[in-house]
Amino acid sequence: TVRTRIAPSPTGDPHVGTAYIALFNLCFARQHGGQFLLRIEDTDQTRSTPESEQAILDSLRWLGIEWDEGPDVGGEHGPYRQSERMDIYRGYAEQLIEKGHAFYCFATAEELDQMRAEQQARGETPKYDGRGLKLSEAEVKQRLNAGEPYVIRMKVPEEGTCKVQDMLRGEIDIDWSQVDMQVLLKADGMPTYHLANVVDDHLMGITHVIRGEEWINSAPKHLKLYEYFGWEAPVLCHLPLLRNPDKSKLSKRKNPTSILYYQRAGFLPEALLNYLGRMGWSMPDEREKFTLEEMQAHFDINRVSLGGPIFDVEKLSWLNGLWIREDLSTEQLADRLQAWALNRDNLLKVLPHAQSRMETLGDFAPLVSFLASGNLGLTESHFTGNKLELDEQKRVLQFAVWRMETLRTWERDAIFAELKSLADATGIKVKDFLAPLFVAISGTTASFSVMDAMVLLGPDMSRARLRQAVE
Ligand code: ATP
Ligand code: GLU
Repeated sequence: TVRTRIAPSPTGDPHVGTAYIALFNLCFARQHGGQFLLRIEDTDQTRSTPESEQAILDSLRWLGIEWDEGPDVGGEHGPYRQSERMDIYRGYAEQLIEKGHAFYCFATAEELDQMRAEQQARGETPKYDGRGLKLSEAEVKQRLNAGEPYVIRMKVPEEGTCKVQDMLRGEIDIDWSQVDMQVLLKADGMPTYHLANVVDDHLMGITHVIRGEEWINSAPKHLKLYEYFGWEAPVLCHLPLLRNPDKSKLSKRKNPTSILYYQRAGFLPEALLNYLGRMGWSMPDEREKFTLEEMQAHFDINRVSLGGPIFDVEKLSWLNGLWIREDLSTEQLADRLQAWALNRDNLLKVLPHAQSRMETLGDFAPLVSFLASGNLGLTESHFTGNKLELDEQKRVLQFAVWRMETLRTWERDAIFAELKSLADATGIKVKDFLAPLFVAISGTTASFSVMDAMVLLGPDMSRARLRQAVE
């Protein structure tokens, strides 16, 4: 039976690209009566967080994507979190050493830096030079016994081409000379993505690997690993990446990429999922609006077009409007609005900041409308009342974006501490420094504290508004 998977790394916001790839994997599996599973690839312990994992699971589920096996639902091939499978990978790396397909390398970071510098000085592209292969068996043994740190690298052919068969693209030729002797097991004993991914896809019975095209260049290594282990490789299929309207790769600098932003901005999950289904694919009758069930019933991966699909927020908004107008009764729309923002819990969070600024109940809506909006559609005129010159305000906003992107604890005091230190570093008075942020976040300076507003809006919407204001 067909088994597909989505294998996100929990290192950041839940990306719309992850949902797009998950959707196509789900439809492909369903259409063949197979299974779709979710595996968390958290071998990069410094960048992975449980919060990010939870946000990915929650957002995919919010969109209506369900998996048959996964860290939260279990299954016969678990655990489904790579950090819980660490014992498995080392054994496989050592198995490759025994078979002569991999080798130990003891080179230190400094030695490798020097190697690369020398290669560059000779005008060569820096590349691992295979020095570990030159060590004698006795020397390897002695250095292992001495407890020297090492990595395990895979061998790759020195010449010839690897022919990668791709379900959509046909044969892709990649010269082995362009493929490096990939580290499989790191000095800290952790596997790299390449080893863990291949081992898990095999052990989890994955038959079709459908993923983003950024992984095409890794395919030769993966195919070689399957061959070394004596396993049958899954069918590979590399989907085109999502693009900004200007055709560049979708990036948060030009377009919000976090699913949480779209949730917050008031998009319906069924409309966003519908839109993602239109990324490079269309219904046989070309209709634009369709449900997940309809997509599953008609899905045909061979009809995916390879031209980079454009993720255009305006087009998404238009489609979302169709869903709101055509598919929701007034009753249902009222329920959606309540569940989204207009509920008692939310009121109780917002009111402590609004109450002191209210004379009548009628002051409430204008005061907080920015909390229930998407893009505020600001222009330069919104910023002209501020003390700083416009270009200086832009610089302030850009600094704030950079700081807020790396801020992990989204709390009032932490946000203020960051902004205050930025203001001090630039020598601008805190009040003047915060003014452009006020406008970017709430559309006006006559609102409540920008730090409180940012906490209420959450990191995704706050960062998106700051970025929108920099443009
Ligand atoms: P960067 O801008 O640094 O490349 P990113 O926006 O690509 O970052 P990542 O954290 O690298 O974000 O990616 C998160 C997940 O989203 C990955 O699984 C990646 O495959 C997917 N992804 C990122 N960009 C796209 C895209 N343009 N199309 C489809 N999927 C994408
Ligand atoms: N963890 C990888 C990612 O984040 C998975 C790539 C794959 O599907 O093989 O994109």
